Order: sequence, then structure tokens, then C-alpha cells
Amino acid sequence: MPDSTELKKEALSSIVGWCVAAIFGTAAALLKWAFPDAWEQICSTILALISPRQLLTLLLISLSVNLTGIAFKLASLKSQQSLRKRFGVLWDSEKNPYCPICNSHLATHNQFGHMENEYFCKPCNNLVYLTDSSGKQITRVYALKNL
Ligand SMILES: [Zn+2]
Repeated sequence: MPDSTELKKEALSSIVGWCVAAIFGTAAALLKWAFPDAWEQICSTILALISPRQLLTLLLISLSVNLTGIAFKLASLKSQQSLRKRFGVLWDSEKNPYCPICNSHLATHNQFGHMENEYFCKPCNNLVYLTDSSGKQITRVYALKNL
């Protein structure tokens, strides 16, 4: 799963894309309103290059790709927002661990091997220890049982 910085960049990219699409849509509407003859000429040129059936197919493909992308983005943002802190680590609803600093998904091993009481955050290049409320380190098995 991407971290929160990547999600923000993707969300911003999507917003920019929608703004560009809105600007082109608005420009097309203004062009049609202000210059109906030029609009008719542009439409007839486009229709000479591509049939209405092909244009409709492209529109449907574009709509389905955009709606699928929006659905994935919303699902990703929803799961990212539902992280809760417990034992010094952030957890999603499926008990996957995330870094409390950068919200990245945590690994169960690093270059030194498999770890029982800690996770490794690759973006932070840091160990995240599982601790109880008194600060004592606990095992991953105990943490997962008590989430
Ligand atoms: Zn991190």
C-alpha cells in the first residue's frame, strides 16, 4: 500500500486532471456558445476522422477507466484514514502494521533477518518497536492477538 505522501501526490494529480478536464469542457461549452459556426466545423472535422460509434466507444471506455480509478482511490483513502494506533504501531482493519511516523506499510524483516518484537520501516530506514502501555516490548504474536 502506498504511504500518505504518495496518496497525497496521487490525489493532487487526480484533482489536477479533473481541473484540466473541467477547463477543456468549459472551453468547449464557451466555444459552442460564442462561436457556433466554428463549433460546427470542429465537430464535423472530428466526425470526419472518427465515426460516432467509435466516439461513443471511446467515451464509454474513458468513463469506465475514470470511474474505476476513482473507486480505487476512494477505497485507498478510506483504508488509510481508518488506521489506529496500538502498541506503538498504526494498524488497519485487517491487522496490517503501518509506521507511526510516515504511515508506510511496515515489513516484518530487514537485512538482518526476521524480527519478533519490532517492524522495519523502509522509507524511514528505522525500526518500530512493539510496546505495551508501560513501554515494555511485546511480541508480534501477542500484539496481533490483542488488537
Ligand atoms: Zn516510516
